[in-house]
Amino acid sequence: MMESGRFSDDDWAARLHQVCQQIPDTVRLIAVTKKFPAEVVRAAYGAGVRDFGESQVQEAEAKQAELTDLPDMTWHLIGHLQSNKARRAVELFDWIHSVDSLKLAKRLNHLAAEAGRSPQCCLQVKMVSDPPKYGFDQDQLWSALPTLDQLDQLSISGLMTIPPMGLSPQATRDVFDQARSLADKINAAGFERLQIQELSMGMSGDYPIAIAAGATMVRLGTALFGDRPGS
Ligand SMILES: *Cc1c(COP(=O)(O)O)cnc(C)c1O
Repeated sequence: MMESGRFSDDDWAARLHQVCQQIPDTVRLIAVTKKFPAEVVRAAYGAGVRDFGESQVQEAEAKQAELTDLPDMTWHLIGHLQSNKARRAVELFDWIHSVDSLKLAKRLNHLAAEAGRSPQCCLQVKMVSDPPKYGFDQDQLWSALPTLDQLDQLSISGLMTIPPMGLSPQATRDVFDQARSLADKINAAGFERLQIQELSMGMSGDYPIAIAAGATMVRLGTALFGDRPGS
């Protein structure tokens, strides 16, 4: 485990290199920096990372304020978004992976129009029942899709999924395969705008499985940075 206070650029570069060797060039690596301070983001940036994932709007805002000198960063919101934070989220993030209800999507569409922004969005889906998690289940998603297709201030271009805790590797693979085939079905359904090109799936514990199943974006925290402070 690396503590941020003793964060060595050499350790970091070596670990990043090791992880990157397992990720094809076609898959986007999102470094999940939640709970890590801005100096860790800066070190990752120095090693070439440009995509950063955060779970909370306020935490991301504070970090971004310390990093205004770094150009070309892409910020991804990966955690559940409360509606009272949605306006700020639209201003701070390029990607919102956690669009988990039609109500939130409509609100984001409205706020994005007001802000003159057009965020890239993933629809968060639960491929198997997982009551504690946010996200559309498949039935809800299919009934929401015609409306989602009309939200023209959003670029809805991906699905995001997180398998339930404790699944076997085979069951995890199954969840990711189902997400990919759901994307294929949506793309075949002939919506006017909606095209699912991105599959945001795979975290530190399962990213090789996700990549084998067709992930285009993986979201890695502990695999890159070690245990999060306070966890
Ligand atoms: C925290 C988090 C991650 C990163 O988790 P690790 O296991 O540390 O890689 C990825 N996705 C989401 C949605 C998260 O909340």
